[in-house]
Amino acid sequence: MNLGEKDKSFIWHPFTPMAEWCADTSEPLVIERGNGVYIYDTLGNRYIDGNASIWTNVHGHCHPTINEAIIQQLAKIAHCSFLGTTNEPAILLAEKLIGLFPSNSLQRAFFSDDGSTAIECAMKMAIQYFQIKGESERCRFVTFDNAYHGDTLGASSLGGVERFFARFADLGLPVIRLNSVEELNKVDCKEIAAVVLEPMVQGAAGIRLWPKGMLSQIRNWCDSNQALLILDEVMTGFGRTGKMFACEHEGVIPDIMALAKGLTGGYLPLAATLTTGEIFDAFLEGQENTFYYGHSYSGNPVGCAAALASLKIFEKESTLSELPDKINHLSKVLEKLKRENQKVIDIRQCGLISGIELLDEDEIIGPQVCNAARDYGLLTRAIGNTVVFMPPLVIKNDQISDSISALQKAIGKVLG
Ligand SMILES: *Cc1c(COP(=O)(O)O)cnc(C)c1O
Repeated sequence: MNLGEKDKSFIWHPFTPMAEWCADTSEPLVIERGNGVYIYDTLGNRYIDGNASIWTNVHGHCHPTINEAIIQQLAKIAHCSFLGTTNEPAILLAEKLIGLFPSNSLQRAFFSDDGSTAIECAMKMAIQYFQIKGESERCRFVTFDNAYHGDTLGASSLGGVERFFARFADLGLPVIRLNSVEELNKVDCKEIAAVVLEPMVQGAAGIRLWPKGMLSQIRNWCDSNQALLILDEVMTGFGRTGKMFACEHEGVIPDIMALAKGLTGGYLPLAATLTTGEIFDAFLEGQENTFYYGHSYSGNPVGCAAALASLKIFEKESTLSELPDKINHLSKVLEKLKRENQKVIDIRQCGLISGIELLDEDEIIGPQVCNAARDYGLLTRAIGNTVVFMPPLVIKNDQISDSISALQKAIGKVLG
């Protein structure tokens, strides 16, 4: 058996219709290595990493600074428990993360492993916070249609993507799901622990942009109704929208923020749930108020060392100040793609996050278009008929052009 055949024999892939994957005609793409925005398969083919390895990669693959930081930490220790002991990379990372926000706002970092666990942690923090304050009736979450916050049971009870979550809808935590910010007025605020939102743009919904001003409206509603605001910046964090965090676009600071995907530059699984001094302080009185939550790999020193290196690169390579020009360039080539191609019916973009929606003729052709794009050197994924292009921030303008022209060829090949 070659690697592809062994994969088809032994592995169950995430979010993957496995009958199709395991079919005799299917040949799994086996990735061997990466360099900058490029990924190489075992046959030596090169692809631009057009979805930043499922929205994680920031500075490109095999970046010497992150690689070196990981190797140096490995030579010391790979992991030790964060229950009862601590370690230097985790301490310095927490300090650095808190330093990215105005003083006296987000003041504590709780580490876990993935976006989903960062959200689970946020939800439990919010519920327990109100229990401690003697307001245990505040145990519901407000979320939005088409939301995506991860796949563990708590996080998925917040989710509003029908296809993913409908079958579990009756089994999760109590949520109130809204379609728009206006509907907040109908909510019985006394039972709300928190509003949970992907700021600026919903990713897994198919790159759907929120109306301008929505974020600050929600912040005001939460303030007027003593509810917490939980922002899920798992996808939008670390420069993806053009600013370090999406909430900066509207000058909003949440009470709890979930970070993951880009935290380590896309190198290792690590997540952080940041919260305010006020929430943290509530847990200080009495053993019974201890936050009994954690994971075996909480505060993993290798992951934290990678994250510190990634934040160092933001400074050294002026990652954020290089973005406006790239975002502008992406807008231009996407507009051109739409102008020249009737099959492209909508373009949605927020920073270097973009969705290219294709004409839906009662058929889902997004995945087919992405498959075809591989032949032209672009690796990405579609959500239904929306092709996602969300490259590592390190991408150059000519590589953006190459990506979109690969997509144009792929659309031509599949849709004529
Ligand atoms: C990916 C994602 C998650 C879940 O993160 P995992 O690391 O996959 O568990 C949560 N929220 C948003 C907005 C995401 O894009």
